Amino acid sequence: MADGEVRVRFAPSPTGFLHVGGARTALFNWLFARNQGGKFILRIEDTDLERSTEESYQAIIDAMKWLGLDWDEGPIVGGDYGPYAQSERRDLYREWAQRLLQEGKAYYCFCSSEMLTGMREEQKKQGKDPKYDGRCKLLLPDEVGHRIAEGQPHVIRFKMPQEGETVVHDIVRGDVTFNNTQLDDFVIIKSDGYPTYNFAVTVDDALMKISHVIRGEDHLSNTPKQIRLYHELGIEPPRYAHVPLILGEDKTRLSKRHGATSVGQFKTDCYLPEAMVNYLALLGWAYDDKTELFSRDDLVQKFSLERVSSTGAVFDYAKLQWMNAEYMKHRSLDDKVTLVLPHLEAAGLITSPLDDEMMQFIRQLVEVVGERVKVANQIPEHVGFFFTEDVDYDPEAAEKFLKQHYVGPAFKILEERLSALEEFEQATIEPVMRGLVSEMGMKARDLFQPVRVALTGTRQSPGLFEVMVLLGKDKVLARLRRARKEFS
Ligand code: GLU
Repeated sequence: MADGEVRVRFAPSPTGFLHVGGARTALFNWLFARNQGGKFILRIEDTDLERSTEESYQAIIDAMKWLGLDWDEGPIVGGDYGPYAQSERRDLYREWAQRLLQEGKAYYCFCSSEMLTGMREEQKKQGKDPKYDGRCKLLLPDEVGHRIAEGQPHVIRFKMPQEGETVVHDIVRGDVTFNNTQLDDFVIIKSDGYPTYNFAVTVDDALMKISHVIRGEDHLSNTPKQIRLYHELGIEPPRYAHVPLILGEDKTRLSKRHGATSVGQFKTDCYLPEAMVNYLALLGWAYDDKTELFSRDDLVQKFSLERVSSTGAVFDYAKLQWMNAEYMKHRSLDDKVTLVLPHLEAAGLITSPLDDEMMQFIRQLVEVVGERVKVANQIPEHVGFFFTEDVDYDPEAAEKFLKQHYVGPAFKILEERLSALEEFEQATIEPVMRGLVSEMGMKARDLFQPVRVALTGTRQSPGLFEVMVLLGKDKVLARLRRARKEFS
């Protein structure tokens, strides 16, 4: 451990997009570093050559930037402990593996994959847990030298102690004990010369002076292997905090079946990064049992690993939407317009370039729909009716509200009175509507709901008078007339 300095890292493998689980791990590391005045390091674990891609690397970098998780050391920014991509650190891993070999703590293994499969099957037949039986440990040095000189494919394995226990002192989960006999002599250098995850991560965490390893609970079972490596290397392990998995509502691991899972998708769907950060922070961490809205500064100030829970965190899409809506409220009208424009365009409701009049209209639209739009990409469903000549009626709403016997006569009077208005504004429309309601001895709702369905096609819409003003007199009259003719 570095001399008291907090140094944490996020170590993604660039083999896909940044999953919300990964982003949450990154965020917890970042918050912990910022809270402690420590360093946050980004390390790219790209030793899986076949699955690592440049595209995925870029997606991770973009997602981190979008979330505002800046790193003090890592790709782009550099640092004293680089390089920060594992593919560029191969010599270091080989050096450390050599050291273990020389000290008799690791050995070459020439077993082919067929032999290993056979071994495992035999063990299963005998009712034993499959594990490497250590046969290459017995090879004499001459024999090893000879086989290597011959160019026989080989890996390097770590000698696990065959007795005793390894205890992970986890900040989140308490002490977790592993029986050493369950662990086998795992591979540290593969036949292609690349290190395995467990070895590379240990060497890197040691060389980068990582003080706390904060990562997903799925890595807990790797931790005893890493601790044994530290032990044999004579280095004090970092402290560990394994954070709970993120689950879907059915309590299975969050996957595409449940909805969007990549940070990039939430960005495309137009979630606000500040809402995303706030939401992710609550996946497995809580300050108390009621506060839910935290600014970034608040989170930095209040975050602690002690308050991370050990039980799975359920990803609740509805709650994320709610939170997004809370943050939308703080955005300026200009910002909101900028956010919704691409979605209006994608839905084919507008085409750019927009003239001033259209821009003005959209500003008003955004004001009128207000908080109904929780996420910017929801705008088309709320405003589609403004852009069409033929409203699509929700059949149930039409049946319920437009087929009432009084609707025909009421609409007829309303059309006459509205058409007589010189100024078509809320202040002139409202008295006409309310006046008619009281003349006909109805409740406001009995008139307003049919009008709403006639104008928008649905039973739910933004404020009715505002909608009427924005639609304009001609459209309002045409829609009332059409509904009257079609349904009464
Ligand atoms: N590359 C590993 C992963 O993406 C990192 C695990 C760790 O933090 O040790 O799961």
